[in-house]
Amino acid sequence: MLPSRVTLASHNRGKWAEFARLLQPLGVAVDFLEDAEGDIVDEVGTTYLENARLKAMDVARRLGVWALGDDSGLEVDALDGAPGIHSARFVSDDPWVNTREILLRLTAVAWPGRTARMVAVLVLAAPDGRWYWAEGQVAGHILTYPRGYGGFGVDPIFSADGRRSLAECSDAEKDAISHRGIACRRLFGGHAIPGSER
Ligand code: IMP
Repeated sequence: MLPSRVTLASHNRGKWAEFARLLQPLGVAVDFLEDAEGDIVDEVGTTYLENARLKAMDVARRLGVWALGDDSGLEVDALDGAPGIHSARFVSDDPWVNTREILLRLTAVAWPGRTARMVAVLVLAAPDGRWYWAEGQVAGHILTYPRGYGGFGVDPIFSADGRRSLAECSDAEKDAISHRGIACRRLFGGHAIPGSER
């Protein structure tokens, strides 16, 4: 039986607001982790799952709560899957610099070759070491120039339908199709995968 209240293993208020919005319809309340409750462990894993699990398990054990950890990224086929798990710190920790770098590296790549996907992995960890996970993906294309003012990160250059960028979609439109939305609905909608080791 999964909990109806979880603590997000992140100090990022934007991320918390997005998870709170995604999980509210699934009957799950999300608590924000205050800075005073300790640092989030470094993302030293080599996969999204490892990184999400490290963060969730650390908070669950330290605070004695059910904790939700996440890791996500953009995988561009013409860049052999880069930036992938390094998306937040690809060439910089400034999202605009990373966005511009992706566009530059794809300058010579025509539309059919500009395929990409966004991936999100969520881990829900209990204080006793049990854990569950789910993954969501949304496939799309990298646009040739940034469009729209909504969202964050690479939203302005990623299009799921080939017409609008995610930054041109409303929150509700993005939630319905996004990698994070899909992962949340899997995790709390009866498709959580039990973790195999403690
Ligand atoms: P992290 O999951 O906090 O490590 O961040 C992953 C990085 O992937 C972000 O900094 C963005 O560059 C990118 N990313 C992941 N999900 C999204 C999204 O929903 N919109 C835009 N960029 C995203």
